Amino acid sequence: MFDLLFHKVTIPHCEHFVDVGVHNGQITYLSSTSKIIPDAMNVIEADGRVLLPGLIEPHIHLDKAYLLGQMDRDATNLKEAIHYTGELKKSFTSEDIRQRSIKVLENCISYGVSSLRCHVEVDPIVGLKGMEVLLELKERYKDVIDLQVVVFPQEGIFLQNHTAELMEESLLMGADIVGGIPYNDIDPIKHIDFVFNLAEKFDKPLDFHVDFSDNPRDLTILEIIKRTLQDNLDGRVSVGHLTSLGSVLHDDARRIASEIARADIHVMTLPATDLYLNGREDKERVRRGLTPVKLLLEEGVNVIFGTNNIQNPFTPFGTGDPLDTALLLAQVAQMGTLKETEKLIDMATIHAARALGIQSYGIAIDNQADLVLFNTNSIRNVLLERPERLGVWKKGKKITNAHRSYIVL
Ligand SMILES: [Zn+2]
Repeated sequence: MFDLLFHKVTIPHCEHFVDVGVHNGQITYLSSTSKIIPDAMNVIEADGRVLLPGLIEPHIHLDKAYLLGQMDRDATNLKEAIHYTGELKKSFTSEDIRQRSIKVLENCISYGVSSLRCHVEVDPIVGLKGMEVLLELKERYKDVIDLQVVVFPQEGIFLQNHTAELMEESLLMGADIVGGIPYNDIDPIKHIDFVFNLAEKFDKPLDFHVDFSDNPRDLTILEIIKRTLQDNLDGRVSVGHLTSLGSVLHDDARRIASEIARADIHVMTLPATDLYLNGREDKERVRRGLTPVKLLLEEGVNVIFGTNNIQNPFTPFGTGDPLDTALLLAQVAQMGTLKETEKLIDMATIHAARALGIQSYGIAIDNQADLVLFNTNSIRNVLLERPERLGVWKKGKKITNAHRSYIVL
């Protein structure tokens, strides 16, 4: 007897309808749909609708989401965005960070996000306030969403006194990943070296904001590749943005992409922010300002996408629905064929799970039953229509209803 049975669902990479049974929070049954429905406490008659594993948000900033109401002017470039947010940060309170983070988290959960990696800023301005709040929320929400907390030195490590100590303290408090941002520091190479050393000291994965410009000479990725290979950290390193690679001459970019694949560095494209802030200096032939997604995929790189910011100086847009970002990426990276659409859904699920090191993930026997049911019978329509999520289940337990009303806490 199963706790839960989905009868007649469409799942990715499967030509026929299947039944999915769940017991004790795990998927314990997976079979072609037949007329005989196995016994279950609760049967969902899906009638061919799409069932996906929980969506994954691999790169987002909760602590600086929803700042538009606090701003007295808008940012129009990266430098201004960093500066204005730094100014606003001076008045952040723990409660303010908590409420804005919760708003994003609960929206994400209702969209079907089951795991989320957030970058949390530590520096002399905000201290450990954001880190304390996000570690508290990680514990509070653990039954409905898995949070990975990155310690993120947005203001640089060597530009500010004590940031290095705050990073180390965050890891002792329970941060999961060491973050870095070499383009916002005095010496990018020294910055990268520090981040690798700290990650190795605490045995943690690494996640860099890297080469966020249109300048083809901004290639700190080369140092990150070198260090990843040298220290045998293949699969443990992620990079976000990497937009300058989009301005590098094609053959050189392809060579670099194949080196990224060799080091198994995961690339997270952040199209909402990248499109908004890059390309602004171009008066004609305006660049899209994205990392070369298709070229990276062709060279075998694990490319995924993230929301990054929600309604703040870096990106005055965003809802937290990963499918919004998927559709935007489909449009700007020209990924509109059926195959490419399926790839985008894989990027939001199984490929993101690999980047984040999530185990027991996906619709297969013995995996955790983190599932989302969509009100459509076609995988392609999941992207094209971003349909209603009829239900979201975490470890086999239903946590939202249709119409995105969040029912558990
Ligand atoms: Zn970011």
